Amino acid sequence: MARYTEASCRLCRREGMKLFLKGDRCYTGKCAMAKRAYAPGQHGQNNRKKVSNYGEQLREKQKVKRIYGLLETQFYNLFEKADKMPGKSGENLLSLLERRLDNTVYRMGLANSRKEARQLVTHGHFILNGHKVDIPSLLVKVGDVIEVKEGSRSSAKFKGFVEAAIRTAPKWLEADLANMKARVVAIPDREDIDLEVSEHLIVELYSK
Ligand code: SF4
Repeated sequence: MARYTEASCRLCRREGMKLFLKGDRCYTGKCAMAKRAYAPGQHGQNNRKKVSNYGEQLREKQKVKRIYGLLETQFYNLFEKADKMPGKSGENLLSLLERRLDNTVYRMGLANSRKEARQLVTHGHFILNGHKVDIPSLLVKVGDVIEVKEGSRSSAKFKGFVEAAIRTAPKWLEADLANMKARVVAIPDREDIDLEVSEHLIVELYSK
């Protein structure tokens, strides 16, 4: 499976904001953005160039792509799907990204980061509607039930997530963290997605 191999913290420094790619570390003083909040590379601290419209659009796309951990082709394919749906393409894109199974697991509080959620899904720790599933890009829909499989429930990792209760599930998920389970009760809309992104810039970029 293709994936990012560049150091996660460099991606945050490149985008100039915390993308929360590393789980626990992101919430501590060890976060690279707390120590070196400037772009990586030799000229990172001196880069005061005015950013063009294209540059702004590109950065916004890169930011969202990196938050959800997608590669360019996967991201563009999702945009094309979003663009064919009724409504605003940018909001549709964010909604589709939220509905990915790896993001859903992350939102349930059963992983410290989306990257970890993707790994846990790939390793077959989850059940979707009673069937084992290992495809992180799968899009959940209303009525779907996601849960940790029986054999993984007693693992220290999952017990740790339940005890830590690291995040509150969004309202489109009816979460039962104690039982490591959630039901999708709505399609996520823009107000459910707590990301500071200007999705219209991505639409502008791809509409050229
Ligand atoms: Fe980004 Fe987390 Fe690294 Fe901080 S610790 S720079 S939020 S990946």
